[in-house]
Parts: sequence; structure tokens; C-alpha cells
Amino acid sequence: MTHIRQLHLGHVNLPESHPRARDMTCEIYSYAIIHPDGIIVVYTGPRVGHSVVDKLYSPQITPIVDALNHAGFDEREVHAVVNTHLHFDHCGQNQSLPHAPIWITEAELEVSTTKFYTVPEWAHTEPGRLRLSSDNERLADGVHLLHTPGHTPRASIRQCRNRPWTRNHRGPSLLHMRRIRSCRRRSRR
Ligand SMILES: [Zn+2]
Repeated sequence: MTHIRQLHLGHVNLPESHPRARDMTCEIYSYAIIHPDGIIVVYTGPRVGHSVVDKLYSPQITPIVDALNHAGFDEREVHAVVNTHLHFDHCGQNQSLPHAPIWITEAELEVSTTKFYTVPEWAHTEPGRLRLSSDNERLADGVHLLHTPGHTPRASIRQCRNRPWTRNHRGPSLLHMRRIRSCRRRSRR
């Protein structure tokens, strides 16, 4: 049985130059797909400690490991990390789950090295952890990655088995996974 748990990681402030500046803040979420083969984490959020990000966005962020633990999960059971794209607010804590492979599209990896696209050191993935996804890549039984260019050139979304095949060309979305069957939560250690 597979289900999805939303993890609230905190928020960032939006600078005046941001297209959504009128919202003033942006809540940051990660998603844990609880699968029999292990946990798949989608987005790791930003982190603090980068001078430009701290100055512009003032991130108020819960570490991803703490968020997983608080939800009753052990970070050592994370089976994979998915970076739907590599903007700084999606990949900042990849290094906090150092044992897990990271899935990303090749085109997204290429664009991530362009100027001002992201925080390069957050987006960098060691070759041993890097997994390049093809369209409709199977991550686990019933969990696939679909390429959905739009928000970025090669963003991707996840799809789980109980929903019709859909793509969201506006960017990553998890809305299509609502009907995932529930399963027993792991007990907290
Ligand atoms: Zn983005």
C-alpha cells in the first residue's frame, strides 16, 4: 500500500522582484511517498546559510530530517529523492539525505548550471547519487516520473497507480495523487 504525506518545511519571504511578491511569503512543502520499497521524498526545500538566499528570502525552514521524524518516519528509510526541478527551494537539503539517490531530468541538470538559475552547490549531485530520468521512468511499483516542461524546461511530476495518466504542463503538481490508498504508518522510533 502506498500513500503520500505532506511535510510542511516552513516558508520564505518573497522579495519585491519576485513575480508573486504581493503574496509576501511562500509556504514550503515536501512530499513523502510512503511505498513498501521505502520512502520517496519529493522536494527537499531550501536551507539557510546562503548569503544571497538568506538576504532575499529569509528562509524559516525546518530541516527535512526533522520534518520526516516529526511525521513518524526514519530518514534512513528514504529510498530515493526526486527533484522535479532544481530551483533553490526544491533541492537545498539534498545533502541531508546523503544515502539516497537523486532523480532528475538531464535537461534540468543542464539548465541548472546557467547563471542565476539556482544555488549551484545545492543543485550539484555527486555522480554516485545521480539518476537521470527518462519520461515515464518507473521509480517503484506504481510510481512513475513524467516529464512536464513548463515551469522549467524539463520539470517532472510523479504519478501513482490509481489515477488516470495526466500531465500538468504548468509545472509540477501532486494533485493527481489524491486517491492513493492509505497504508499503515511506520511507528516512530
Ligand atoms: Zn521552481
